[in-house]
Amino acid sequence: MEDVVVIGAGLSGLTAARQLHQSGYRVLVVDKSRGLGGRLATRRLTRPLGTTAIDHGCRYLEPFNDASLSPMSLLLAAGVLQLWQPETFSLEADGALRVAAPGTLYAAPQGISAVAKALAPGLTIQRHWRATTLTPLSQGWRIAGEPLGAGSQDASDLAQPSPIKARAVVVAIPAPQAAALIAAAAQQHEGLSEMVQQLETVEFEAVITAMAGYSPHQSTSLAAQNVPGGWMVTGDNHPILRWLALDSSKRTDSKEPVVVVHSSAAFAASNIDRSDLEEVGQALLKTAAEHLGPWLKTPESMQVHRWRYGFVSKPLNSLLLASPALPNLVGCGDWCRGGNAEGAIASGHQAAKLIAQALE
Ligand SMILES: Cc1cc2nc3c(=O)[nH]c(=O)nc-3n(C[C@H](O)[C@H](O)[C@H](O)COP(=O)(O)OP(=O)(O)OC[C@H]3O[C@@H](n4cnc5c(N)ncnc54)[C@H](O)[C@@H]3O)c2cc1C
Repeated sequence: MEDVVVIGAGLSGLTAARQLHQSGYRVLVVDKSRGLGGRLATRRLTRPLGTTAIDHGCRYLEPFNDASLSPMSLLLAAGVLQLWQPETFSLEADGALRVAAPGTLYAAPQGISAVAKALAPGLTIQRHWRATTLTPLSQGWRIAGEPLGAGSQDASDLAQPSPIKARAVVVAIPAPQAAALIAAAAQQHEGLSEMVQQLETVEFEAVITAMAGYSPHQSTSLAAQNVPGGWMVTGDNHPILRWLALDSSKRTDSKEPVVVVHSSAAFAASNIDRSDLEEVGQALLKTAAEHLGPWLKTPESMQVHRWRYGFVSKPLNSLLLASPALPNLVGCGDWCRGGNAEGAIASGHQAAKLIAQALE
């Protein structure tokens, strides 16, 4: 039996797992994805001049409000993060582009998933394994799941015996997925059904992301702006575009321009279930081209990703999800409070503290 199973290898789950592991507990992390980091996501795109990293989820980290939680100095010292200083603009609802005040942004030259990898050394992680049900035992938990990605040659994908038993569980996955995981056993325990009710109050917005690669000969300046280097555009009030940037300006070895475009919540809500994702991506680039420069419409290559649970729009407003009746089960994630990388780390820390108390 494990001491703790952490379900989800995003920033919150890895933070909790690392803290519990460092306190001497036997911890197993499981994640359904092949990579680590969840929404700290980096894709490798093969381009004519080589492979390039693209951040299609979390874009950068900003200075933390609570400096005691901040991994920034360690990550900067390790070369995982570096200051990213794009010229910054805001795209208004009427299409006007205005110069905006730059923030302090830290990007990862190797791709933002490097932040997750920096938290993982020493941890036992079963990737490609989706937890499907969670059942309370007289002492501890039974976690049933299924291996994904059959045929992989990766040794870390070897099938984990299912079910797994653990003295305690940290559920570090988006609230709607956590509700589905817990719901099956909710009738067996009042504490669980209360947790499901709380999880159901949390809301997420979807995001559709286009990653577009351009010719190395392409000038990547924005219309009516002379921007020789990196740029980023926020579209907080724009009906279609939430954010876009020259992602390749985060890299130290970039040879070809890559632009990442994140859609607004409204655009994602209307397009998330479409099967012709290529067309959805083209629509995002077409809108970007209308406001920011015609060259954006004609990439050499494009990939599209949909985030069903992208940004938290209604958080739980508590650092974690817990029930006094079930001290050895906690839920954590950015959906608890904060809705960003700092929120995920804060929640993961708190989850580890509570589980350590329960296991004393
Ligand atoms: C497009 C986009 C841009 C963003 N930009 C920024 C930014 O610039 N700055 C910032 O601070 N934040 C940003 N964020 C938010 C930030 O990425 C998140 O707040 C943070 O990464 C959330 O971490 P988490 O651990 O809570 O959840 P996640 O990263 O979602 O991790 C959950 C993990 O659980 C796994 N999982 C789910 N279900 C199961 C299951 N049943 N079994 C096993 N594993 C499962 C998933 O594969 C995933 O790895 C952005 C998010 C998006 C989508």
